[in-house]
Amino acid sequence: MGEISADRCDVAIIGLGPVGATLANILGKAGLAVLVLEREAAAYHLPRAVHFDDEVMRVFQSIGLADTLLPYLALSTGMRFVDPSGRVILDWSRLQPTRPHGWNSSYRFHQPELEAVLRKGLPRWPSVTARQRCEAFAVEQQGVCAVVRFEDLSSGKLHATQAKYVVGCDGARSLIRRLIGSGLIDLGFHERWLVIDAILKRPRPDLGDVSVQFCDPARPATYVRGIGDRRRWEITLKDDEPTAQMTDPARVWALLRRWITSEDAELERSAVYTFHSVIAETWRHGRLLIAGDAAHQTPPFLGQGMCAGMRDVANLGWKLVEVLSSRADDDLLDTYQRERLPHVREYIELAVKFGGIINTKAADVALPNTSTSDENTQRIRVEKPRLGRGFHFGTSDQIGRLIPQPTLIGGGRLDDRVGETFSLLIDKDLLGSTSHAIAPQLRERGIACVDSSHDEVAAWLREVGHKAVLARPDRYVFGAADSASELVALIAAAGANPTAADHKSQPGG
Ligand SMILES: Cc1cc2nc3c(=O)[nH]c(=O)nc-3n(C[C@H](O)[C@H](O)[C@H](O)COP(=O)(O)OP(=O)(O)OC[C@H]3O[C@@H](n4cnc5c(N)ncnc54)[C@H](O)[C@@H]3O)c2cc1C
Repeated sequence: MGEISADRCDVAIIGLGPVGATLANILGKAGLAVLVLEREAAAYHLPRAVHFDDEVMRVFQSIGLADTLLPYLALSTGMRFVDPSGRVILDWSRLQPTRPHGWNSSYRFHQPELEAVLRKGLPRWPSVTARQRCEAFAVEQQGVCAVVRFEDLSSGKLHATQAKYVVGCDGARSLIRRLIGSGLIDLGFHERWLVIDAILKRPRPDLGDVSVQFCDPARPATYVRGIGDRRRWEITLKDDEPTAQMTDPARVWALLRRWITSEDAELERSAVYTFHSVIAETWRHGRLLIAGDAAHQTPPFLGQGMCAGMRDVANLGWKLVEVLSSRADDDLLDTYQRERLPHVREYIELAVKFGGIINTKAADVALPNTSTSDENTQRIRVEKPRLGRGFHFGTSDQIGRLIPQPTLIGGGRLDDRVGETFSLLIDKDLLGSTSHAIAPQLRERGIACVDSSHDEVAAWLREVGHKAVLARPDRYVFGAADSASELVALIAAAGANPTAADHKSQPGG
């Protein structure tokens, strides 16, 4: 074993994929000492994520990278499911008249470009060190810290560092998940798909802007319009088609023939993936936690795998900051899995249902929020799930939902105005009548206040039927109040440890 160096950090992040890089930016912005270990020399080069949503853009906004990313993004118009005759059987339009979160509901991107932006963001934080070609191979919990042992693969030297917490953002084959000893909840979907990225050599507008799910029992497939000239096809493989041979260009072109030929495009990359639908049973053991693909994997039909990982670290990030700044007990970290697991499970279950439709094994599957048009096309709206019960207070039905991001008087966005802190959206009359009573607590807890003189704030408070809503730094509703006394109790609960906050909120608790 290498000697334990004097290295110490607040948080060791294992894995510099998109999820680990985002967490490093979140913690670095808060000034925590972070060591990121990444086995590979460069970001993963094979085709993967192509879509993220408005909530994830808010996370990028929080780490100051949304504007840097914009030139690499295109708006996504939606997805259609078509049967073998070409009839649209399900329409999921992503075009929306409003932007409640301050961003478009759906963006297309190229994962290597996103990862490059996230990595280039790290040098802004002097307390973050990222070490590539360094593989973590053991972690021992030793009371007040965990010792992470790793190999520098460029020299073969073994090192160790002490961390107060270790977060495994180490992907589907996570070492940290294994060390936690977590089993997997299996949601039943495991299929091999060939994923191909091609670059168009000449315009093919007929391929379309909308993603298409070809629900063809003979060969279910997906078309995704990528960024610029990049186009993606995901094609199911049959049991007798050997993985090792299916990326052979001749076979790839044969499968693409119904859409394009080598006259139209050149192959950029192709890879066979087995899409899984699993969730880790245990996301935390003492000082070890997992996030992203280490904690859950989904078939990509909703484009939510990486998005779920970003939500994990937005949830975990502020909690680590609170605990490591001694503003909250370590118990707060137990609310991470309680809140995130039901949320990600809902998305994965919907993705599995979509997979059933694409495979036409379950064309009549019951989907939520669908309506049927005159042409007998079902239209679907995918609602954002609600967090499981965790660090929340009271009984409002807004608890566990995201607050919107209105534009404020003067033109700025809400999240930029309040920063990475708790924020109170409040009716201006209630604020006027209580400000002397709550001002000291707001100051002490660092709660930013935005009142209803901003029209969009007033409209949203009316819509949800509350006089005040307190949101956490990850923009999820902590609780709501409709009177001065409720407001005082709400603000006090935000300063309490999580067990106390939750306990007080339970009727009869
Ligand atoms: C075909 C396809 C399409 C997809 N489409 C979408 C989409 O449209 N939208 C979406 O949101 N998601 C999508 N996804 C999912 C998305 O790509 C993943 O969820 C995301 O990449 C997971 O990020 P991560 O950081 O958790 O893990 P990874 O990206 O796997 O990163 C883990 C990192 O940890 C490193 N590592 C592992 N072990 C160690 C160790 N012991 N020591 C040091 N380093 C280690 C690895 O080298 C790797 O860099 C898609 C996936 C596929 C396959």
